[in-house]
Order: sequence, then structure tokens, then C-alpha cells
Amino acid sequence: MILPIRKYPNQTLRKKAQRVEKITDSILALIDNMIETMMAADGLGLAANQVGSLKRIFVLNTSFDKKAPEPLVVINPEIIFQDEKEFIEEEGCLSFPELYLKISRPERVKIQAVDNYNRDYILDTSGILAKAVMHEIDHLNGVLFIDHIRPEEEKILQKYLKKIKPTVK
Ligand SMILES: [Zn+2]
Repeated sequence: MILPIRKYPNQTLRKKAQRVEKITDSILALIDNMIETMMAADGLGLAANQVGSLKRIFVLNTSFDKKAPEPLVVINPEIIFQDEKEFIEEEGCLSFPELYLKISRPERVKIQAVDNYNRDYILDTSGILAKAVMHEIDHLNGVLFIDHIRPEEEKILQKYLKKIKPTVK
């Protein structure tokens, strides 16, 4: 089922998601729907907050290819390593249609998480995937990519925010 994606300034986007204590049928259904929603929206990643659920879950399409998707389920992620070296590259977000900002993110990130079979795993990522992981973990903490804006792009953001109509919660 494709779920409606919450757009900024929806309140859920600013809330901290809670740990998943048990992978129940409803959690599995939510994950299936999140993958379907991410694919339909042609996104690289989607966090539960973005579909109105405050659970520490996000999904990624690690192939970056809509025709051959490789969805990855990330539950209760913890950052175990974060490179001090950062790189700047354009970033978008399904909750901010048509807004692209150049955001600085660590070059490499290592996380520990659980998959939908409740198996622990470690994900060692770099480049675009590391960027996506940091973007999605931010979502789970109520942090948005606009919070990382660099001063030189402030004008682009202000212009965008003026354009969007406040959505009713
Ligand atoms: Zn996002």
C-alpha cells in the first residue's frame, strides 16, 4: 500500500521516533508499505516519520535504480563510526519536493541495526549511501536536511519556504 508522504512543515517530521521493541506483524506491514511508497516516489530512502509513524525504521534503495531495486530495511540504527572527513553534495528529501541543497556529510559511516528478520547487522557505507544513512537517521531524531544548510544556500531555502503553503497537520 502506498502511504501518503508527510511534507514539511508537518509536525511528525520534527518528532523523535521511538525504538522498535518487537517486530510484530504491524511493523512488518509498515515496512512493506514504506518500501512500496519509497519506490513509487522514486526515492533513495524513506523514514517512518515521513509516513506518520514514530518508529525507528528507515528503508533505502541501495541500488539507486528503480528498475532493479535493492531495498534495505534498517531498524533501531546506531552510529558506531562516523568519518571526520566530510564531502558536500546535492541532497533532496521526499518531504521537500523540488528542493535540492548541497549538504556536507561524513564520507564514511558505520551503523549497527536490525533487519526485518530481527537479525543484527553492521552496515559500512561511504559516499552517497553514507549520506543517505545520515539523512534518514536525522529523520528518526526529528532533524531535517534544512537544519544542515550552509550559509551560501540560505537564500534558496528562504525562497522555497515562502513558496510552500503551510499544510494542516
Ligand atoms: Zn528526507
